[in-house]
Amino acid sequence: MSFQDYAINSRQKSMLDFIEKYFAEADYRERGSGTEFRAICPFCEGGRTREASFDMNITNEHVKCWRSSCLYKGNFAWFMSEFLKISYREANNMLRGPAYTSEDVLLADLEYLKKNVLDVELFDDKYLYSFDIGIKDSKEISELRNEGLSSEIKDWILNRRYDIDWFIENHPFLVPPQIGKGKCRVQFEVETEGSRAYQLYSFIQGVEPKTINPDQQYLSYMLYNYNNVIRSSIVFVTEGIFSCARLNSWGYSAVALFGVILKPYQNYLLSRLDCDEICVCLDHGTKDASLKIYEQLKDGCYGKKLSILEIDVDGADPDDLEEVDFVRCFKKRKKKLNSREGELERMMKDLKKLGYE
Ligand SMILES: [Zn+2]
Repeated sequence: MSFQDYAINSRQKSMLDFIEKYFAEADYRERGSGTEFRAICPFCEGGRTREASFDMNITNEHVKCWRSSCLYKGNFAWFMSEFLKISYREANNMLRGPAYTSEDVLLADLEYLKKNVLDVELFDDKYLYSFDIGIKDSKEISELRNEGLSSEIKDWILNRRYDIDWFIENHPFLVPPQIGKGKCRVQFEVETEGSRAYQLYSFIQGVEPKTINPDQQYLSYMLYNYNNVIRSSIVFVTEGIFSCARLNSWGYSAVALFGVILKPYQNYLLSRLDCDEICVCLDHGTKDASLKIYEQLKDGCYGKKLSILEIDVDGADPDDLEEVDFVRCFKKRKKKLNSREGELERMMKDLKKLGYE
């Protein structure tokens, strides 16, 4: 039996076209409220376990995710408009008439395709599983018996000039089991699009404290703090989590790249943000890297303003600045609107680069 056999009118047929195209794995079920299809939620991705918790009802047109951390809710047209990033009117037209005719919908399809091409193995079980190995038996900082370490961590947070309550509240702060065996002492939880990794912080006598990032194979698929900036209007792209945390503590929306290289999937994640502007804000001495990222964003993030913030305080990173200096540099930033013109051609080129013909 094909999905289409469940349709009783043309509107339902259009909804089923959509479900079949984007949620081919959905399970059919007949409920008191009508004919429903259950799939993995495209917004929360079903969390780490990839739980199917997303119901699309073609009778009452309700769409809902049951995961408590998500609770996405909308009618079918709203959902289509959000999923395909098209207007509500366009989505309604799709439900009414012959589907997939306009350029907007074609672009949405291309973007979907692009995501799938880039989304290699990210949610593969073995990858997620290996994240968990690193954190088994970790302890919350509050459960810490080792008072010495606890105060060492707190000192360190205060030395970085963070408000200690704010920092602990915003960064799940865990002590991994490696303590005593290796140099890793404290970890921050890092979460992006339903998957997790952990950032470790090391203290070695006589050496500047340094972050140890998750493995490169995970890093290129995430941006630190991404989930918190999805609805922001300006998003700053920083190098490391401390610059990111600093900007966040001032109330600005920032993500961290974990380095100075923007990977294709990270570019894709940025293109999905609601924001009007993406501002590249790397550490000092990285002018070339900033420019390179800016050029990459031009190829990935259409319809957004793109800018580069250069810090004019000698030798200072975003993390070293006072807010007043940051704001002054921000006002002087170089910016340009990345128009949507030629978007289709560029996306086709992107797809070709990715090996899709
Ligand atoms: Zn969800």
